[in-house]
Amino acid sequence: MNSNAFEEIQAASKLLGFGLSCEELAQIAQDGNIGEQEIEAIRKVFLYMKNKKTDAVISMLLRTSRLPLKAPKTFENFDFETLHGKEIDTLKNLPTLSALYARKNIAFIGPPGIGKTHLAMAFGRACCFQGYKTYFIKATELNQKFNDARKLSREGKAITSLVKPSCLIIDEVGHCVFDKENTRMLFDLVDRRYNKDCPSTMIFTSNKSPDKWGEFFNEDATLLCTLDRIFDDAIVFMMKGDSYRGRTQKTIAIQAGQPAKIIE
Ligand code: ADP
Ligand code: MG
Repeated sequence: MNSNAFEEIQAASKLLGFGLSCEELAQIAQDGNIGEQEIEAIRKVFLYMKNKKTDAVISMLLRTSRLPLKAPKTFENFDFETLHGKEIDTLKNLPTLSALYARKNIAFIGPPGIGKTHLAMAFGRACCFQGYKTYFIKATELNQKFNDARKLSREGKAITSLVKPSCLIIDEVGHCVFDKENTRMLFDLVDRRYNKDCPSTMIFTSNKSPDKWGEFFNEDATLLCTLDRIFDDAIVFMMKGDSYRGRTQKTIAIQAGQPAKIIE
């Protein structure tokens, strides 16, 4: 018999939502004169249920994340070899999710087609697989969400729903302008996330470098605080190079190598 069977059953039962302690189990085993084989069978059943529950949680997290379920963008199908630059190791280490655990924000900055959204989505997907709630939203959709919330006087609710996910991805910053009120709401959101006491990260993608972001928000002291908070200890990848879009056609037509991309 596996010597940790009681502990494994205890851990599985905790995940399944009821706390069956080692002591209780041992007592049941003692009272019922339950032997090694029966305990092993019980352990197998509990592990099976635990795996089933884990799969259900992951699929729920993926469904609610707004990440694509069909043809998902993952770290496995991202070609890191096409990227160069001194930050490449930091980029290659993204799958460890250390940024999430260290509660650092991430920004992918660079021209269209270079893989910013792909990397952001891959990170979010990996978070889901580790059991962390993730939410993907384009900046234009966020702006609209704030407008809608204001019309219905539901600003607090809208912000709370965006504070909850451990990983919040805001894609394509700079595709719309946030008015003063929406900039203030974004500040509240960033501030409340900043004060959260658990693994948490915000991921931004943009064609514009952060020093130009002032153009897309209603610039005042609020914005400065927001940007300070976002980039306080953030990991900013400045990506340079050719678009990856159309790469396959190019390769087939001229049998060329892969376009090089540079991360500064
Ligand atoms: P961006 O957000 O920078 O405009 P995307 O992340 O949307 O670009 O990438 C454009 C397309 O190219 C997507 O289909 C993406 O999956 C693919 N792509 C970009 N870079 C890579 C890469 N290094 N490896 C694999 N696919 C990539
Ligand atoms: Mg993109």
